[in-house]
Amino acid sequence: RFLSLEGGEGAGKSTQVRALAAALESRGLSVVVTREPGGSEGAEAIRELLMQGDVARWGARAEALLFAAARSDHVDKVIRPALEAGTWVITDRFIDSTRAYQGAAGGIDDASIMALHGFGSRGLLPDRTFILDLPAAEGARRAALRDGERADRFAQRSAHFHADVGRAFRTYAAREPGRFRIVDAGRSPGDVTALLLSDLSDLLP
Ligand code: C5P
Repeated sequence: RFLSLEGGEGAGKSTQVRALAAALESRGLSVVVTREPGGSEGAEAIRELLMQGDVARWGARAEALLFAAARSDHVDKVIRPALEAGTWVITDRFIDSTRAYQGAAGGIDDASIMALHGFGSRGLLPDRTFILDLPAAEGARRAALRDGERADRFAQRSAHFHADVGRAFRTYAAREPGRFRIVDAGRSPGDVTALLLSDLSDLLP
């Protein structure tokens, strides 16, 4: 099974990815944990490129192509092989981050983002996608506590941009209720993990 966790900065995605993996492993499942941008050697090299320079280093289309290229490598080298071996894969961000950041907030239409995904990753979608939902201001506060003065180009984005990202995640979730679940990331980490696990009961063996 293939699961993705999505949400804005500071929503607790990486904590929940680890906690969920541990919970599934304790049930005897084999689990691969991964993240985007990155997750494979080639995709991590693209991540390094993406993090450098000024926020305007690339135009929105170039940035969308770089994310699609990174994801293509990640899917080919890591995600599909694991799924074919019967391993669960949990990823910290996937296509819905690109739909929200480069798409809705960055100004590229969703059909174009999905067309790139169709070519790059043969349209692979998670079995379930959890949106860890937190008001953008609260996420920014938590992320600042964690990251201090972050220096990469993504730290230059406005509060308005992050609000657009959050709204986009909620919109996609509402449109596709079969795949998405919205989880209140303001709850305690243990509560959030318990919610994720109980929601997966239909997918568990
Ligand atoms: O998940 P994480 O916070 O480590 O993501 C790294 C950075 O990449 C974040 O600042 C996020 O805003 C940015 N990002 C992006 N577009 C994506 C995925 C992540 O701008 N599709």
